Amino acid sequence: GDSYDEECDYLFKAVLIGDSAVGKSNLLSRFSRDEFRLDSKPTIGVEFAYRNIKVGDKLIKAQIWDTAGQERFRAITSSYYRGALGALLVYDITRRATFDNLKKWLHELREFGNPDIVVILVGNKADIAHSREVEKEDAQNLAEAEGLCFMETSALENLNVEEAFMEMIRKIHKIAS
Ligand code: GDP
Ligand code: MG
Repeated sequence: GDSYDEECDYLFKAVLIGDSAVGKSNLLSRFSRDEFRLDSKPTIGVEFAYRNIKVGDKLIKAQIWDTAGQERFRAITSSYYRGALGALLVYDITRRATFDNLKKWLHELREFGNPDIVVILVGNKADIAHSREVEKEDAQNLAEAEGLCFMETSALENLNVEEAFMEMIRKIHKIAS
């Protein structure tokens, strides 16, 4: 039968964090279902999505958690971070405040997250670069200072979305195996 599909070599949890409306839910729906929504419906966000990925000869099941909009009230609890091996830390390249708030998010990650957590810094909405408020160089400097990987993405145009998640998953796999 097809029971092989149900079995995986590794199951791990990763989380999406970052300010409200930066595109976290759309990055996840693009990665897990290849879907994008123009309207923002934070309260009907799924709790998490799964995707199976083959890395080498291993089957990895990634369980990726999304917020249900509680970041708006700075009310993400420690249980959200518990057991997470990876995080996509997302800001919006067209809203400087979402970049300036990354320090707060990194602080929270260090407080609640696993000390070895793999963090990928993601500058989303690269498709509207004419409204850019955050230079790539600023993000590269932050990433270097904090020891993170950095990528600009567009959930709308499906640019670098797969790459950002896969980079995280490959790094986790390297640490976990
Ligand atoms: P979240 O609050 O971080 O989960 O953000 P959402 O995924 O709900 O997205 C917030 C808004 O930004 C929605 O109106 C989306 O359609 C829009 N959005 C998300 N990603 C992109 C993107 O890559 N490009 C553009 N132009 N808009 C985006
Ligand atoms: Mg959301």
